[in-house]
Amino acid sequence: MPATIAQTRQPLPADANTRMRVGRCRTCNNRRVEGGSRGVTTPWTRSVEPVHGDQYEVQYHELWCPVWTGETPQVACPHPHCGAPVTEVTYRPGYQVRVPWTSPYGNPGTLVGTLDEIDVGAETFGSETIPDPQFDKADLAPCGHTVEGTQAQQVRGQFQQVLEGRRRRDAEAEIARHADVLAAAETAGHSVLVEQYRQAVIMGSTDRSGLLAALRTLAGAPQK
Ligand SMILES: [Zn+2]
Ligand SMILES: [Zn+2]
Repeated sequence: MPATIAQTRQPLPADANTRMRVGRCRTCNNRRVEGGSRGVTTPWTRSVEPVHGDQYEVQYHELWCPVWTGETPQVACPHPHCGAPVTEVTYRPGYQVRVPWTSPYGNPGTLVGTLDEIDVGAETFGSETIPDPQFDKADLAPCGHTVEGTQAQQVRGQFQQVLEGRRRRDAEAEIARHADVLAAAETAGHSVLVEQYRQAVIMGSTDRSGLLAALRTLAGAPQK
């Protein structure tokens, strides 16, 4: 497999051959080149060094492509040569399903895979169905790759951690925005209610707006 060619957004060196070859980015695999009379609007990079004689290689990218953004994704697609940021995970758990007939593939009487792959009737799906994580699959967006088994579980775990971290930071920011009301309510002796409000925000409970309104009243703060 050819190695990845290092890319840069820098303009060509002044003395370089301006004729460039077009190559495919192995990360985003972009095939579209858009633009008009004013030039190409699709993000593009060129190879750091000439790669075809004295010609540089140009590659076009999706907006999310790390080769273009230069950003290391928080969760990266583990598919070989990909490494795209993962912004969505569709998880399909794997199963083994014992069937009363002999399967044309695999073990006689056992179908394996995700439910959409196994595609057995509802009457078959039931007591003879055993979850089997080695057949789990995760469909990743935006790159569109599907990873399996341990890789699927790992990428789902990493993605959930990022979501959880984001949720916690949002909750902390929400609590910090109302710090003055909370401090005033605490001073007025309502720390139990303040703690209830904090927990409601952390849990994402809809009770929090009512609790905040009550705290405002108790603290003598203006209602917003
Ligand atoms: Zn790319
Ligand atoms: Zn990918």
